[in-house]
Amino acid sequence: MAKVVVKKDSCIGCGVCAAVCASVFTMADDGLAENVLGEDVPEDLMEEVKEAVEACPVQAIEIE
Ligand code: SF4
Repeated sequence: MAKVVVKKDSCIGCGVCAAVCASVFTMADDGLAENVLGEDVPEDLMEEVKEAVEACPVQAIEIE
């Protein structure tokens, strides 16, 4: 498991992470992305999460 956090103060709501990795990211009612799993993401989804991290235009996704 790895902890994956969307920094809401950086996210601009572009939706790219949800398009790249819908298993983990969704767009919340506030228009910003959130981790649907809470925080902990299983290893088998981390490859997609890393793609989303690289695709995010404002580096709002952190793997801790
Ligand atoms: S890709 Fe980055 S800026 Fe775009 S919705 Fe996801 S976290 Fe927010």
